[in-house]
Amino acid sequence: MRVAIVGAGPAGLAAAYDLTRAGHSVVIFEGAPGVGGLAAGFKAPHWEWSLEKFYHHWFQSDAAMLGLIKELGWSDRVLFPRPYTVLYHDGEFYPSDSIGTALKFFLQHYALSDVIRFGLVGLYLKATPRWQSLERYTAADWMRRWAGPRIYEAVWKPMLVGKFGEDNLSIVNMAWLWARIKSRTTRLGTFVGGFQAFLDQLADVVRTQGGEIRLSSTVTGIHPIANGRLRVETVAEANEFDSVISTSSPALTARMTPDLPEAYAGQLRALRSMGAVVLVVSLDRQLTKFYWHNLPKEAGFPFLALVEHTNFIGAEHYGGDRIIYCGDYLNPDHRYFQLSKEELLEEFLPSFARMNPQFERSWVKNSWLFKTTYAQPIPPVNHSQNIPALKTPIPGLYMASMSQVYPWDRGTNFAVEIGRRVAKMVEDDNHRL
Ligand SMILES: Cc1cc2nc3c(=O)[nH]c(=O)nc-3n(C[C@H](O)[C@H](O)[C@H](O)COP(=O)(O)OP(=O)(O)OC[C@H]3O[C@@H](n4cnc5c(N)ncnc54)[C@H](O)[C@@H]3O)c2cc1C
Repeated sequence: MRVAIVGAGPAGLAAAYDLTRAGHSVVIFEGAPGVGGLAAGFKAPHWEWSLEKFYHHWFQSDAAMLGLIKELGWSDRVLFPRPYTVLYHDGEFYPSDSIGTALKFFLQHYALSDVIRFGLVGLYLKATPRWQSLERYTAADWMRRWAGPRIYEAVWKPMLVGKFGEDNLSIVNMAWLWARIKSRTTRLGTFVGGFQAFLDQLADVVRTQGGEIRLSSTVTGIHPIANGRLRVETVAEANEFDSVISTSSPALTARMTPDLPEAYAGQLRALRSMGAVVLVVSLDRQLTKFYWHNLPKEAGFPFLALVEHTNFIGAEHYGGDRIIYCGDYLNPDHRYFQLSKEELLEEFLPSFARMNPQFERSWVKNSWLFKTTYAQPIPPVNHSQNIPALKTPIPGLYMASMSQVYPWDRGTNFAVEIGRRVAKMVEDDNHRL
């Protein structure tokens, strides 16, 4: 069977790994000049490791990703340090990424009854597998009711507003929050050399197994043709395949496949998502002691998270540079998408002094800006009814995107899971023919 895959992100590479291993002929078309998708990295000349353009880490519960890595025999290249995530409260930062550290913070600042509610809600969400009943409520309503208004205002509301904006508070469902609480661990993981090293090595395995990866090759059209096959068009070429898997965004897949029946195409177009703007700054010295700082917008910070990457992965891998990410999730029409790197530096750098009063502009060595309009799917109430099937109504055409890993939140782990699931579907359908 001859299969085309649109996209060499984690989902496309995982699907290609399984299909080439099973002996099929696979061509991956990737619009970017390198593999990796949203998990791709970049490297300054004096760095030994690459750095993810958008901050990335794995959780110890990432079974699909860690399972694939084990299968490839690379488990010894996975590192799980214990960095610290902190919460901002009245000008101070408090560790808050485990039940223990969070309870300590709450006992210092809240009534015992609030702390007990916080603990019980956390334990319930970790234990229950029943996300279907939770998706009927907004996360805001559910948390306000069960965790109580004070804990909701202090913890969950800033997190929801940061991730989805104030407007979407009345939309995002509780299954999304359940999935985050359920699947997250305090230890965070990476790959020796960075995520890009892992993705490059996976791409090499795909090639060794006979797969072809055509970089800088954007698919512009996917069309069913008379012989039951599909024609995949790029600006430079057109080729025929028995099956096609698109790992592009739902909106782009709808646009490049004009023959999709409206019922399905409309479903793709209706899925909404947040974009992300991430400014990466290298400094000549450490800024803070912690890895991940959650920053409430109402405290006047111009972005959602300050992530000191080199408090997670040693600065020695980046030529001694200290790496800071300033990240925010925003509607794709937010003004930050129009600003240059220099303009964003002007807006963001003053807040570094709130993390460390000694901070001076002269500490900055370099900076990079990354933007994407497709970063975080927005899951409204009863969202399971909105998820498009992996098998599209066009025979032989499949779609596996971040927007379809629901109820799980997007992540490379779920990209690998959905990539392998769709590859199996393609194979099973082929055997039935
Ligand atoms: C800010 C941010 C932080 C994140 N943090 C984490 C994290 O900490 N841990 C984690 O595991 N995950 C994280 N993620 C999510 C993770 O990056 C994604 O879940 C994952 O990359 C999705 O993989 P994918 O293969 O489905 O899609 P993508 O990575 O988006 O790959 C799709 C690929 O398809 C290509 N493509 C699209 N259209 C076409 C076309 N027409 N022709 C050819 N090529 C095309 C794109 O160029 C891209 O390479 C984060 C994402 C963002 C944005």
